[in-house]
Amino acid sequence: MRFASVAFLLALAWSAAASAEQRSDEFLSCLAGIKQAAHSAGISPAITEAALKDVKEPAERVLKLSEVQPETKFHIWDYLGFLVDDQRIDDGKAKMAEHDALLRAVEERYGVNRYVVAAVWGVETDYGRAVGRNFLPHALTTMVCKNDHRTEFWQKQLIAALQLVERGDLQLEKLYGSWAGAFGQTQFIPTTYEHFAVDFDGDGKRDLVDNVADALGSTANYLRGNGWQPGASWLIEVKLPAGYNGPTGRKNKASLSTWTQRGITRWDGSPLRGQGSAGLLLPAGKEGPAFLTFKNFDAIWTYNRAESYALAISHLADRMAGYPAFRTPWPTDDLGLSRAQRYRLQELLIAEGYDIGEADGKIGSRSQAAIRKHEEKLGWEPTGRAGTKIFKALGGE
Ligand code: CA
Repeated sequence: MRFASVAFLLALAWSAAASAEQRSDEFLSCLAGIKQAAHSAGISPAITEAALKDVKEPAERVLKLSEVQPETKFHIWDYLGFLVDDQRIDDGKAKMAEHDALLRAVEERYGVNRYVVAAVWGVETDYGRAVGRNFLPHALTTMVCKNDHRTEFWQKQLIAALQLVERGDLQLEKLYGSWAGAFGQTQFIPTTYEHFAVDFDGDGKRDLVDNVADALGSTANYLRGNGWQPGASWLIEVKLPAGYNGPTGRKNKASLSTWTQRGITRWDGSPLRGQGSAGLLLPAGKEGPAFLTFKNFDAIWTYNRAESYALAISHLADRMAGYPAFRTPWPTDDLGLSRAQRYRLQELLIAEGYDIGEADGKIGSRSQAAIRKHEEKLGWEPTGRAGTKIFKALGGE
């Protein structure tokens, strides 16, 4: 852009204005199409009109969030560092005590381990504290009208969300969630809600937004419906024999006796025991912690379709149940930070004079830029990553 001529810039501005108008026409006609589809799906015009009355243009924030690409390299120890930190473990224990009778009733009815149900709640919304602030009809309309290869998916979500209102499960003003339509205490997308939500407290409504009983019951119902086996394991930490060269991967399942033949033991070298078939998961390669993952791990995986996610849920559940942290260290000298440490890191960056706004514990683009600057100042390679090294270099403890 530095060498662009004035004429070129003017032409660009003109075409931007013209295409903005065109975009607006396209959006309005897309909106009309959505109303028609809602009508065909049996949703009363009053509900559709109320849901879309303030939707005049795409939600900029949703468009932005839908295009976010992580700037820094993803490390499993960063991800687990903030998702399974002491705060979330302690909060989870307190929440489990508060809802003990409910969680036991949920476990009894669906056979899903209550620590795992609570861990999903903790990771998805920090036990109901962070449920998302995007109005679903607006967010989902934005995604439908973006007209990419997933239009049909987004439209299904939008119609399913309106159907929840049509059926009386929820009122419109409860439809707030993530840009991608996940909402409620355990972040179901509307079609998942439609299929797996249950009225656990029996008041006639399936309310996963404000009713903890319905939310936790529905989460267990979802896991059971996606392959959870009552009483079975989800994850155990194991040890590889020196020079292990055998099969790996969650899907390469074998019996525990086969794994024993391959030289795998429990983390402390004792023989494997228990039932079921499992895959060998090495989230950071052969030098890091190794796990056997069972079918229940796969059930958790379906919740977000990521092994790192399933590992976070599995480990948080184990930690809340009193089991220790992984025994094998991650293969790094620069571990990830907890949320409290991220917050402190931001305070330290602010104290150094970096303009990153207010500390909130979320490492966004401004925090990353400040970290990069400070890394450069220290003569390090600029990564923008919030790790232990930069934290300590800034005086964190
Ligand atoms: Ca209910």
